[in-house]
Amino acid sequence: MGLLDYVEYDRVQGWRVGRFRGWINTNCYLYRLDDVLIDTGPPNQWAIVRSILLSHPVRAVYVTHHHEDHGGNSAAIHAEFSIPIYVHPRGIRYFEQGFRLQYYRRIIWGMPSAVKVQAFPETIQTEKGLEIVPIHTPGHTDDMVCFYIPQEGWLFTGDLFITTRPRIIRKVEDPLEEMRSLRRVLKYEFQVIFCSHRGMQQRGRQLLQEKLRFLEDIYDQTAHLLKMGKSTTEIAHQLLGAEGFLTWMTGFHFAKKNLIEAFAREILNPNRALNRESRE
Ligand SMILES: [Zn+2]
Repeated sequence: MGLLDYVEYDRVQGWRVGRFRGWINTNCYLYRLDDVLIDTGPPNQWAIVRSILLSHPVRAVYVTHHHEDHGGNSAAIHAEFSIPIYVHPRGIRYFEQGFRLQYYRRIIWGMPSAVKVQAFPETIQTEKGLEIVPIHTPGHTDDMVCFYIPQEGWLFTGDLFITTRPRIIRKVEDPLEEMRSLRRVLKYEFQVIFCSHRGMQQRGRQLLQEKLRFLEDIYDQTAHLLKMGKSTTEIAHQLLGAEGFLTWMTGFHFAKKNLIEAFAREILNPNRALNRESRE
């Protein structure tokens, strides 16, 4: 499909690219803030990303995390435009050595190539003097960051938001860690967010608060139902509904049960009081 949408908000431009329009997780926004590109789009959209960058040059690329729909064109951009690619230190190995990509992901987004990347400095300035502060927000992946723009009260959220009611997660995601990351970013002053899948959201702060409350509520209900002797499969069905097409299509990589199982591991962990200190 190629270019699915274009948005402009103040000095931010956003392009939504992807192979399929229907399901928002299959396409991804790349944002340009002054002379900085945030995220690079999936590898199978390289032709459109290349033409965007030819007409809107950038000086550097900051990637929120290594997933192929976000960092997938890093190698091609680096080769074509000779500009640096910055990632979180924990992400370097994924970009330089690659990572496992399930078959369905290769079909939807394509296969990224390896590229030499750098860890970003603590703060960065755009050519027009706007400060960009990377905030480490693991959970979705261990290398994910949000980019905070203090002067404007903006937050580029990568995949921290996506929805207020996350019911399906990948097996490798850590929702407890994600909840800590949500609490961490909510300590900063911001209102507008730029989500990689939902685009710009004026009520961004409230949306992130809603997501955190939803996860806390599911966590508490899971604890209650475990105490009553229910299994994680029963709890997932009761709180989140039946597994859907996506779960079957991805061979259970994406599933509702993953969320409940991650919570159950924490709840049944004898050291959990230590892990929950930041909540109270
Ligand atoms: Zn992701």
